[in-house]
Amino acid sequence: YDDRDGWIWWDGEFVPWRGAKLHVLSHGLHYASAVFEGERAYSGNIFKLRAHTERLIASARILGFEIPWSVEEIDAACQETVARNGFTDAYVRPIAWRGSEEMGVAARLTKTHLAIAAWEWGAYFGVEQRMAGVRLNLAPWRRPAPDTAPTASKATGLYMIGTMSKHAAMDAGYDDALMLDYKGDIAEATGANIFFNMGGELHTPTPACFLDGITRRTVMGLARKRQVKVVERTIRIDELKDASEVFLAGTAAEVTPVREIAGHAYTPGDLTRMLMTDYEALVRQSPEAVAAAGA
Ligand code: PMP
Repeated sequence: YDDRDGWIWWDGEFVPWRGAKLHVLSHGLHYASAVFEGERAYSGNIFKLRAHTERLIASARILGFEIPWSVEEIDAACQETVARNGFTDAYVRPIAWRGSEEMGVAARLTKTHLAIAAWEWGAYFGVEQRMAGVRLNLAPWRRPAPDTAPTASKATGLYMIGTMSKHAAMDAGYDDALMLDYKGDIAEATGANIFFNMGGELHTPTPACFLDGITRRTVMGLARKRQVKVVERTIRIDELKDASEVFLAGTAAEVTPVREIAGHAYTPGDLTRMLMTDYEALVRQSPEAVAAAGA
């Protein structure tokens, strides 16, 4: 991803894409003192930008560092990065990390850096093509307990087990992995939250040790607007057989139907289709209309 034209926002300035390199002794690289966001711009507007920026700042605070820009400044920098590169529909990746001013586990003297990149994300397949669904295998790794890792932070270090789990799933011919939590209950996929249609209700695991995704909360709001009952609860692995529909929800994945989890087959149906369609419509609204929609 380093060899392309374009501009990356870095500590308040735009630098050419190929020149956006950092020192090998960056604390963030050695000790995972880094947090990031994943956002999508639709028709020129970053969907729920404020919520993403607030989560970025909160993620850094959980790891004990402060990003030296305000919410407003970061919001503006994200939008400028999309505009400067001439994009309307793009994926936006802000990342904040501790720099190379100090080496060792302690990092009291490091500066916090922030960079924002954006790249074009071609039109996804249409709703009907995506209705075929993806296949998930069970992950060999579990989401850690909240007192084992900073699970509420979108911290880079938490993605180590995500990459290993996704590779294991792909090696076995699946698309992604379903991760259980440290208790053995259902948690999420490697980069998206999970939902189940159980008897016409929308059930999803309580986010006690994984990200309470912005898409997750959006989808819950859209379902409630459609008078669908939403239930957040502990979902056990032996309940996989009780679901009629399953889908993933995340900024990158949007609403993605699931057709299999480790041998359990599902047929994506009306609830999935409705929420995919409602989500697609919502993300294209103006930021004011999105706020007014309350989903
Ligand atoms: N879980 C994980 C592990 C993720 O990486 C993501 C994507 N940020 C999500 C859930 C979904 O979060 P969001 O809807 O805020 O993108």
